[in-house]
Amino acid sequence: MIIAIDGPAGAGKSTVAKILAQKLGFLYIDTGAMYRALTLKTIEQKIDPSDIPAIVDLARHSVIDLINDELGALKVSLDGKDVSSLIREPRITMFVSDIAKIKDVREVMLGLQRKLGKSKDSVLDGRDIGTVVFPDADKKFYLDAKSDERAKRRYKELVGFGQTITLGDVESDLSNRDKIDSTRECAPLRKAEDAVYVDTTDMSIEEVVKTLLGYL
Ligand code: C5P
Repeated sequence: MIIAIDGPAGAGKSTVAKILAQKLGFLYIDTGAMYRALTLKTIEQKIDPSDIPAIVDLARHSVIDLINDELGALKVSLDGKDVSSLIREPRITMFVSDIAKIKDVREVMLGLQRKLGKSKDSVLDGRDIGTVVFPDADKKFYLDAKSDERAKRRYKELVGFGQTITLGDVESDLSNRDKIDSTRECAPLRKAEDAVYVDTTDMSIEEVVKTLLGYL
């Protein structure tokens, strides 16, 4: 079974997807983490973000893997190294949407995501899961929330990770990424026609999880 959860940043997708996967005993596939891992490698190798052929080559020659541990935590591995924390840093977040809009990069990620998703019952979260990666997913959700609420949530989360950041920084990052993600040519962020739309603005995580479970 495949459950697809799409939506903009800060709508609660990853938290909800992780809990849902744990409750159902499914694999949790954070597709954004894959784009983040490639962005990290691009930066570490000092590749210019506008050098598309070099980035595509990097994508084709990287080993990106997601490992779910018994406690439901997700480990993101890049060429055998645990990069779970590094990929959340602002220097990655700043560039990830520019890397993710490259068509041939998406092609590589698509292959990885489909392979992982087919290996076991899975919950995938991202931007194009219900529209492109698994258009035949058994259940599709589109999580959304008002932009100021999304920024507040993301701000709290990042401060929790120990990052020094202002709410204003988070607001401008989210609006920048939303714009790039929803206007790009290849696999833009949009709700699949058959996805259930859930506005999480006034809902707790528990309420969102309960709502989604009610549709399964
Ligand atoms: O989900 P997260 O915010 O970590 O995703 C980081 C970025 O990766 C998004 O802003 C988007 O540019 C990209 N992404 C994507 N397609 C996906 C998942 C993430 O383009 N399926």
